[in-house]
Amino acid sequence: MMTIYVRYSVLNEVILCKYGEIILKGANKSTFESMLLKELRRRAKYVGGFSVRYNQSTVYIEPTEEDADTDEMYEQAKKVFGFASVTRAAVCEKNMEDILRVAGEYLPEKLRGVKKFRCEAKRSDKKFPLTSPEIAAEVGGVVLEKVRGIKVDLDRPDVTVRVEVRDKWAYIHAGQDKGAGGIPLGSGGKGLLLLSGGIDSPVAGHMMAKRGLYLDALYFESIPYTNELAREKVLTLAKELCEYTGRMRVHVISLTHLQEEIRDKCDEEYFTLLLRRFMMRLANRVAAENYCQCIITGESLGQVASQTMGALTVTNAIAELPVFRPCIGLDKEEIVVRAREIGTYDTSILPYEDCCTVFTPRHPRTKPEMEKVLREEEKLDADALTEEAYLSKFTVKVAQFDD
Ligand code: ATP
Ligand code: MG
Repeated sequence: MMTIYVRYSVLNEVILCKYGEIILKGANKSTFESMLLKELRRRAKYVGGFSVRYNQSTVYIEPTEEDADTDEMYEQAKKVFGFASVTRAAVCEKNMEDILRVAGEYLPEKLRGVKKFRCEAKRSDKKFPLTSPEIAAEVGGVVLEKVRGIKVDLDRPDVTVRVEVRDKWAYIHAGQDKGAGGIPLGSGGKGLLLLSGGIDSPVAGHMMAKRGLYLDALYFESIPYTNELAREKVLTLAKELCEYTGRMRVHVISLTHLQEEIRDKCDEEYFTLLLRRFMMRLANRVAAENYCQCIITGESLGQVASQTMGALTVTNAIAELPVFRPCIGLDKEEIVVRAREIGTYDTSILPYEDCCTVFTPRHPRTKPEMEKVLREEEKLDADALTEEAYLSKFTVKVAQFDD
């Protein structure tokens, strides 16, 4: 006990992560929990100098070395799906004397510039001699004494100071951050994200990863109509998504010949739709080969001609797996807000050509007829073109951390 205490008095700050939705998972809770811990431990291992344990719906990330980088570990914890909140907390022995001493040392800096606060306490150890309101009142008293100009405001505090008397230790913290939310990575399986260089598809990938999916990505290019910089941009977006998913394989397929065939042989109004059906055919194959159980796109209803209900029906018809379009009900503005939040926006707006924007029809069909689509397709050898495009596939491994 004594040695741990000494350790904590040097490094008296830990990170507490509180479960989100997993709390509701009955019998399956432990499966979700182990996925959550796996992801957190992967990150802790990379940052170095931390141990991770859990108890009663809280994960404790504790420094084991003096120079452990708590700021970096904290940033990592905020990106792990499955947590409702994360907070940094001071650790103290479970007696009032130590709690008040640590509160006096730890809180003034955390509350600098804060005008109104409130203090709450919680005991999971019911044998602790003081009640929760008594603990809160005493710690609140220390804050009033040590932080100049601060006032108690129970209804509208700027910051809520919390004291938690838990299993082995007591914890004091001032303010918390929202966790990444969602459910742990991997708990939903794996999806194939159709990743273009645009704003929408990275957001779609993030939204589905948040619902527990690992991601593989599929990128279509059309060199020389699109260039290497466009591909680099997509790989950068994949790397940015790896901040959340850890790793991702990006499959790259060339559509150059296929697009030229469509341009030369088919009705211009149908170019984009025909192209999108080929993308789906190829996605079916890449997904099957890589154990992906769904296809994910960044489509949003009505955003462009190929995203009307009629157009989506035509492309959806050829998909062999569920197609998830998490942006379907979002406005462009809302998608942009999310792109900024997850950190992909600045890359997405770099100005490179996407294969969807080469040979774009002047008047794309917004209400396509399925029969006409099929007739246009008959002008092409769809199987051979799909096969040829598939053979151009190569795969790039992208990861959050270089090892
Ligand atoms: P984004 O912002 O994601 O590029 P968008 O608004 O430009 O979407 P479209 O170009 O119609 O819309 O593409 C719709 C979806 O089709 C994209 O979100 C993406 O999932 C997929 N897609 C489009 N182009 C490509 C591509 N070159 N490679 C892979 N997927 C693509
Ligand atoms: Mg696009």
